[in-house]
Amino acid sequence: MFIGVDDTDSLKGGCTTYLAALLCDSLGVTGYPKLIRLNPNIPYRTRGNGAIAFQVEGDAGKIEKTTLDLVKKHAQLGDDNTNPGVVFIHELTPEQRKRLEGFYLKTVSELVTLEEAESVAAEVNAEVHRFKNGRGVIGALAAVGSKLPDKTYELIAYRVKRNYGKEKSVDEESVYKMDRETYPETFDNIDPDKKQILISPHGYDPVLCGIRGDSVEVVRRAWKLLKVSEEVERIQVFETNQGTDAHLRDRRISELKPYDCVIIEGEVIISPQDIEGGHVLFGLSDGSGKIACAAYEPTGDFRKVVRKLAEGDRIRVFGGIGKHPNTLNLEKLQVLELARLCERIPPECCGRRMTSAGAGKGFKCRKCGKKAGMDAVVLREVGRDLGPGLYEVPPRARRHLSKPLVRFRQPKGRFNSLKSKLFKVMRRGSSEP
Ligand code: ATP
Repeated sequence: MFIGVDDTDSLKGGCTTYLAALLCDSLGVTGYPKLIRLNPNIPYRTRGNGAIAFQVEGDAGKIEKTTLDLVKKHAQLGDDNTNPGVVFIHELTPEQRKRLEGFYLKTVSELVTLEEAESVAAEVNAEVHRFKNGRGVIGALAAVGSKLPDKTYELIAYRVKRNYGKEKSVDEESVYKMDRETYPETFDNIDPDKKQILISPHGYDPVLCGIRGDSVEVVRRAWKLLKVSEEVERIQVFETNQGTDAHLRDRRISELKPYDCVIIEGEVIISPQDIEGGHVLFGLSDGSGKIACAAYEPTGDFRKVVRKLAEGDRIRVFGGIGKHPNTLNLEKLQVLELARLCERIPPECCGRRMTSAGAGKGFKCRKCGKKAGMDAVVLREVGRDLGPGLYEVPPRARRHLSKPLVRFRQPKGRFNSLKSKLFKVMRRGSSEP
């Protein structure tokens, strides 16, 4: 039987992944449950828009009762924004599997409605349990339908209840050591610029820490390298779509809808400008329309790259559309072709540059007195302090779904292990070598 669960937590407490860990334990799940991140732009999410799904064999009645009892016990039903959904699917025909997969692909990258989810649920004969408005059915169904052509793993360690609210005791030095020994097979452990530990989020109990990586082996090895001086209730490894760019779709500007997750290729038509709050904005056109692209203040040094763009540059932007489909929140940027920029300088005479003869009056040679009109101005190409390639936001500002550049490497092979080493050396910068 396939089981999907979503929308059980709130900012005040709870965690759908913790509930998944309890369920897997109680139901004797042997494989890895899925932690599926869905569209990071939608307005209903509490944090990272995560949903969970897993498969289990056994007495259907018992499985359903255990699942629903645990959901009722742990869901933060008192919170207005918590609307759990649970789905049970006994079996799927190839057509139903395809239908569910299509629903996942849409839910991870667009806004979908509860009505749409209900109709898909009926098509695949899902048994649906709604709590309150039951919006969680959307994520629960999508998680069951998820197919992961690229996948990563996350090992999450959970605290014992008596330590909730207390400072977390993951030794920082051991996180750096773990990172040195396992990066880039593990990723986003730390933020190198801000010297920030990312595996152990402040608040957010019951999670003590979460380690992301390319394989089960590496996240387990990384966990063993950590020094933790508090009791750990349990650990659970999840199979996930985190760090895979599963949410991004190639789109034209004219077809954008609110909350879409997209990749757009186009030309810079308005040079970057700083606006209040430390954000940087520029205009992009792809021939079908125009859009403002924003690198917000939390993206730190990524804004330095964005500021170097100029009108005429051909680029590809990766990111999310907001409530209004006229702004794109940048996650990554690829410079395809730089425009040639020229500065206007005076012509030469007698071996040196002529000087201005006054505003709009052309030029004058200081040595021989010769004059030249404005049309004698010389265009000199200026170098660009930016090269073609991919640029990304720093780890602390990264969406769960965004694929870090370090994951664009091909696995194995001598060249690639060399490339991995290069990444280790270059990780302080944000561009691909
Ligand atoms: P987590 O804390 O586990 O990372 P979250 O708390 O941020 O996740 P949820 O509590 O799961 O997010 O709330 C998100 C809600 O939005 C759920 O009800 C889910 O079903 C719904 N949802 C998810 N994706 C979409 C989408 N693409 N369109 C509309 N609703 C969605």
